[in-house]
Amino acid sequence: MDRAHLAERARDRAAALAAQGVHAVALTWVDNAGITRVKSVPTGRLPDAAAWGVGMSPVFDVFCLDDSVTTSRHIGGPTGDLRLHPDLDRLTVLAAQPGWAWAPVERWTQEGEPHAACQRRFARTMMERAAAAGLTLRMAFEVEWFLGQETEDAEDPRPAGTGPAYGMNRLVALSGYSDDLLATLAAQGVVVEQYHPEYSPGQLELSVAATDPVAAADANVLVRQTIRAVAARHGLRVSFAPVVTAGQVGNGGHLHFSVRDADGALFAGGAGPYALTARGESVLAGVLARLPALCAIGAPGVASYLRLVPQRWAGPYQCWGRENREAGLRFVTGVAGHGDQAANAELKCVDGAANPYLVAGAVCALVLDSVDAGLRLPAEIAVDPASLPDGDQPPRLPVSLPEAIGRLEADDGLRAAMGEALFDAFLAVRRAEVDLFADAGPAHVAAATRWRY
Ligand code: GLU
Ligand code: MG
Repeated sequence: MDRAHLAERARDRAAALAAQGVHAVALTWVDNAGITRVKSVPTGRLPDAAAWGVGMSPVFDVFCLDDSVTTSRHIGGPTGDLRLHPDLDRLTVLAAQPGWAWAPVERWTQEGEPHAACQRRFARTMMERAAAAGLTLRMAFEVEWFLGQETEDAEDPRPAGTGPAYGMNRLVALSGYSDDLLATLAAQGVVVEQYHPEYSPGQLELSVAATDPVAAADANVLVRQTIRAVAARHGLRVSFAPVVTAGQVGNGGHLHFSVRDADGALFAGGAGPYALTARGESVLAGVLARLPALCAIGAPGVASYLRLVPQRWAGPYQCWGRENREAGLRFVTGVAGHGDQAANAELKCVDGAANPYLVAGAVCALVLDSVDAGLRLPAEIAVDPASLPDGDQPPRLPVSLPEAIGRLEADDGLRAAMGEALFDAFLAVRRAEVDLFADAGPAHVAAATRWRY
């Protein structure tokens, strides 16, 4: 780390920020509970933060969704310190929070070594490994959220903007909010591709353009905090939780991804099913085979399994299908003739409790493991799996967090990719959250999760 160079770059950026009326910079990272944590510095301190980092305890690696603290083999307890180093390339003026800018951080030790359990570093390392193998991954996280009225009673979430699912009525009711949101994201350089009212009461969805995996995870953090900040300006509140009300359609955080090598797109222009190349088919087969383990990362909460059930378009089956919204792996070819640019795979099981850096890093790891393994996809499921006779249905993805944890524990490839410290701390948090809700029914789980994300 070239501290002098970092300080110099940050001095220029801080001067420009100050000239725009920015007084402070929020420095965020996402913990193993999927919660975005923050420290902030006055703008004038940015050069110091860039060069030397900002202190933060490593114990946040074992924080749970309710702020209770567990422990793990390598990380836990009140001692130690880490340094948060902002990524100056991502510094963004927050248009809905006057006076504020934002940057994501990577966490380093006081000795100037990368922190072994840094989630963003994991994503970046995996992306760099893919690049070294000649692979370019593009990713985008969709965001679904519940927009609610501020009520006295947090137990009683009241949707903002009533009206039919996907209904224009709802958009009319939320015109001002929606305009403010889209303008704010545009001012922050976020490329929005679509925005619409979703199925559940008060539910909305926004999708953004694909970028590299780390940028996609950063964008996910920025977009979610922007959605929240704009809602606050309108006296509204937001939940990205996997379910807001038990028994209703939940909030997905689907990950779209595609891969290219030196010859072009792996998911188009080939001789396999839907023009998949042999390497592309092997990637999808590899990801599909390990989807149950990935669920512990992409659907990491107890509440995630209230969402991941059939016939809610959450993709709860371990199968694939073209444009099949009940398949854990939905293959998107794009419009005929546009496959080279548009073809991608969608991981439906990912939800709003997932840490996007861990999801991005894990998917890169699965791609690397499978691209040259010569794997073939099983038969496509082209119908609603629930409509098939019992014996013909594809396997369900894990139906509970303990089941998903078991599958991840058994995945040596993901263990090796994440490294012991991160893998162990992540699993410790998952297990602690299982314990937290050991005696809780669905309504309690939903209520305890609702306003944490
Ligand atoms: N809300 C659904 C979910 O839980 C997804 C709906 C859609 O396909 O966009 O994942
Ligand atoms: Mg949706």
